[in-house]
Amino acid sequence: MSQKIQSVRGMHDLLPSESARWQQAESVVRNTMLGYGYAELRTPLIESTALFTRGIGEATDIVEKEMYTFESRSGDSLTLRPENTAGCVRAALQHGLMSDGAANRVWYYGPMFRYERPQKGRTRQFHQVGAEVYGVAGAAIEAELILLSARLWAQLGIQDAVSLEVNTLGTSEERAAYREKLVAYFRSHSGLLDEDSTRRLETNPLRVLDSKNPKMQSMINEAPQLIDVLGEESQAHFAELKEILASCNVTVTVNPRLVRGLDYYSHTVWEWTTDRLGAQSAVCGGGRYDGLVVELGGKPCPAVGWALGMERLIAVMEEVSAEVDVNAPHGYIISSPEVPPQAAHQLSEQLRDELDGLRLVCNAVPSSIKAQFKRADKSGALFALVLGADEHAAGSITIKPLRGDRGDKQQTLSRQQLVAFLAERID
Ligand code: ATP
Ligand code: MG
Repeated sequence: MSQKIQSVRGMHDLLPSESARWQQAESVVRNTMLGYGYAELRTPLIESTALFTRGIGEATDIVEKEMYTFESRSGDSLTLRPENTAGCVRAALQHGLMSDGAANRVWYYGPMFRYERPQKGRTRQFHQVGAEVYGVAGAAIEAELILLSARLWAQLGIQDAVSLEVNTLGTSEERAAYREKLVAYFRSHSGLLDEDSTRRLETNPLRVLDSKNPKMQSMINEAPQLIDVLGEESQAHFAELKEILASCNVTVTVNPRLVRGLDYYSHTVWEWTTDRLGAQSAVCGGGRYDGLVVELGGKPCPAVGWALGMERLIAVMEEVSAEVDVNAPHGYIISSPEVPPQAAHQLSEQLRDELDGLRLVCNAVPSSIKAQFKRADKSGALFALVLGADEHAAGSITIKPLRGDRGDKQQTLSRQQLVAFLAERID
């Protein structure tokens, strides 16, 4: 016997037993996006490597060490997308989505690839949902994007399991001035910097603020804060964002150390975190990235967006409620061996015609009623619909509840009564 081939490390199958929750989340995402006027943008999983080295920045974890980069047969350097903000900007530029001066709201969903050490909440293929808006400066659109995600959490029942941190990075000029201050401060404490931070001091000093090294925490806490050196306009921008969110009952915490991993942010950045998943606490992150469009060859165009990790979102949903399979069938048709084989299909097709949204499974393995009941139970169905010889002759059906707690009893119904009975029980 030859050896079985396994899935690649860090890349997982989504099994039928898990897919219901994913589909539930996906459908909430789709409807919520639609409800805010966002349209889906689907881009290829593979892009030119240059898109990410330019679009994300050389001095980021992603570009430094996490990309799946390979040479195509024709010698081009290609990369499996590690994120999709750059890809969306590329597509928007390529197809003129940014040129009409209107607000363009798009969203995306799909797999991303990062060569990271696999662990709980961190895989090499993972899935992101993201929302991006082109052509709108100012805090109102940032607030909209945050409110949209807050609505998602509420729809998915996890609003109490996530919290929002925001920060402002100001304009690129303000940040440049701040960077100098920060570098001077860190230089004066160079003895306390670890190897990573010493390197970042040269390449991306703001990221030193991100360091989790416990020995550096008190030194970092004393570092100068960008928020104190911001100009009036940037202060007002940030104040407006906080005001809108407060007026819509979204609680925010300002975290002056939140800089996010990527180079391209300006003004507002934010992150939704959870305390339910241990170390991998970031569920969703976003920010304004006005500079990226020019970086990728476009005319200046404001841009802002966020991305959420589906695996972590699903994990939070699981922590919050161990809900039963939402895709479980409503009914499972059992037919006795004496009944002609086509009868069950005739019944099920008729029910599907009449009942939108009905989930019905037809027994497909000829066997005893008892064996069929076992299968019906395993399917998770709420009811067994039994088509015995008597029922067949009378044009009726016997209903037997398989999941307790609803107060339903076993009963024999006419076809018409059955339709009414099921109609009441479809969500
Ligand atoms: P982290 O700090 O956990 O590495 P990140 O800053 O790299 O996160 P982003 O690039 O902002 O993450 O991506 C947005 C979201 O995508 C994250 O908040 C997280 O939920 C998810 N995510 C990122 N990398 C992974 C991964 N390797 N596996 C699973 N989910 C991920
Ligand atoms: Mg990361």
